[in-house]
Amino acid sequence: MLVLVGPAGAGKTTLAHLLQTRAPGRRAFSVSHTTRPMRPNEIDGVDYYFVDRPTFEHLRDQGGFAEWAEVHGNLYGTSRAEIGRLHQDGKVALFDIDIVGAHNLWQLYPDEVRLAFLLPPSWQVLVDRLLARGTETPEIVRRRLRTARLELHAVCESPAPWHIVVNDQLQPAADRLEALLAVPPPPAENPRAHPSVQAYLRDAEADPRAA
Ligand code: 5GP
Repeated sequence: MLVLVGPAGAGKTTLAHLLQTRAPGRRAFSVSHTTRPMRPNEIDGVDYYFVDRPTFEHLRDQGGFAEWAEVHGNLYGTSRAEIGRLHQDGKVALFDIDIVGAHNLWQLYPDEVRLAFLLPPSWQVLVDRLLARGTETPEIVRRRLRTARLELHAVCESPAPWHIVVNDQLQPAADRLEALLAVPPPPAENPRAHPSVQAYLRDAEADPRAA
């Protein structure tokens, strides 16, 4: 299980697709449940299983989720059925989930889960990418920057074995992610000691939009 965590704009979706095209049929994306409304370009059952809140809560209360979290007011979760399906197919499962979910998944499957924290080359690039989307309101940009800052702190505090992957170029970043699938995996890093994380935290703390 390869778990990709990182701010919106870090390239998680692009990298997950690239990893799948590099090994056709051997890697698959874990499709989460969410109560968030579907966006125009999204497909039910491909991007997410879109459900209403009562349906989600019912499944959750029955123990149907391996992990779940509330992100920006919506519920998201990885169903046990989804993990079972990927496991049965013998595929490497790729996850795009938040840091809380990543942590819970690692606690559940400590030997199988590899945790990657993805970062764009710099805080400024992250800001530029979010603004360049043009679809996000200033409020959403602020919320995403704030989440990015908080997730950076969380990864530094986390006892889990993290690997920091700076996505400055797509192919080398994908190579680094593939290296995490090796048995045994490369040794975990101390995020706090990583120069990119340090630079990020400095800039994030100085950015009033992320306050
Ligand atoms: P979005 O609504 O932009 O697709 O995703 C918002 C956030 O929810 C992202 O940080 C994404 O990684 C996270 N997320 C998506 N699916 C899951 C999930 O199944 N579990 C958890 N914990 N977080 C998820």
